[in-house]
Amino acid sequence: MKRIYNFSAGPAILPVEVLEEASRGILEIGGSGMSILEVSHRGKEYEAIHFDAKERVLKNLGLDPEQYTALFLGGGASLQFAMLPMNFLTPGATADYVNTGEWGVKAIKEAKRFGNVNVAATSEDARYSYIPTDLNLTPGARYVHITTNNTIEGTEWPGLPDTGGAPLVGDASSDIYARDLDYSRFNLLYAGAQKNMGPAGVTIVVARKDFLQQAGDDVPVILSYKTHAKADSLYNTPPAFAVYVVGLVLKWIEAQGGLKAVEERNRRKAQVIYDALDAFPDVYEPAVREKRDRSLMNVTFRLRNPDRDKEFLAGAQEREMEGLKGHRSVGGFRASIYNAFPPEGCQALANYLEDFAKKAI
Ligand code: PMP
Repeated sequence: MKRIYNFSAGPAILPVEVLEEASRGILEIGGSGMSILEVSHRGKEYEAIHFDAKERVLKNLGLDPEQYTALFLGGGASLQFAMLPMNFLTPGATADYVNTGEWGVKAIKEAKRFGNVNVAATSEDARYSYIPTDLNLTPGARYVHITTNNTIEGTEWPGLPDTGGAPLVGDASSDIYARDLDYSRFNLLYAGAQKNMGPAGVTIVVARKDFLQQAGDDVPVILSYKTHAKADSLYNTPPAFAVYVVGLVLKWIEAQGGLKAVEERNRRKAQVIYDALDAFPDVYEPAVREKRDRSLMNVTFRLRNPDRDKEFLAGAQEREMEGLKGHRSVGGFRASIYNAFPPEGCQALANYLEDFAKKAI
């Protein structure tokens, strides 16, 4: 099997061991004589997979299943931009949002349909190149929403903000399971699976049970958190295959030594690339202003001479590195190096950055 260095931002690289196991599951699951793609979501084969994955979602985040629950939903993280305020932002209430990038902008736009939104801080003034430190919070805010990692811009919250007691909510689509954070600081966390957790199709929502109880009741049934919490994410047909692969990825994370070990590995991986960029400041311009805000997952940079962009990409492709083009809205380059991305690939990119820079000088 051929494997290139896939720097795609998502859907993204998955561990080979997981792909191998999933291939077997596509043929037959648990000695049932049926494929994972064929079994009923009400049958014992799928139920075992579903509840095992749910348990691992919480366990790997270090969350107590007595206090927290995990939901498997469809609609992508984008649906959560609407579902969250639909459930919690009752008319008259205010939610605080920190705007650190394009995904935050989308979340804010949806929230405004439902209630008052206070943008507690924004880094829009500097092309979202940093994470703001001073937040202008609303006393009694319904919740405070952050994007823990900004996939497009390449910034990541170095630590979690003090919300002054308001419930913290996070869009962790591109860095869930990448760091050993204190996840109990969150009241609700959501993430599309297709970067660090599995294939596209399932979104994970992790929430405190007592917080979910405060969700409104005047919400369409299928969009109500309470519906899915009560039915253990089996109210309707869940994205069964995606949930199955998420379970396999979580087992893989455990085999890596859990989040502590995964974070250490991610830090080493990212450092190799940032060091190579920093070594040639005349050639590369990191897109992130403050080093402390640099993402471990999405390394963003530009060439000082954009006339050489095409040559840079072509040279990378010759070395079997794909997916390095920056998001269409910001240009430049982006190396997405999620958990499953191998350290050798980071070293290969660092070597290429050095070779290209020496050629360019
Ligand atoms: N939030 C963030 C931080 C993202 O990176 C993405 C997807 N790239 C989304 C939300 C939207 O996710 P989805 O495509 O699953 O709706």
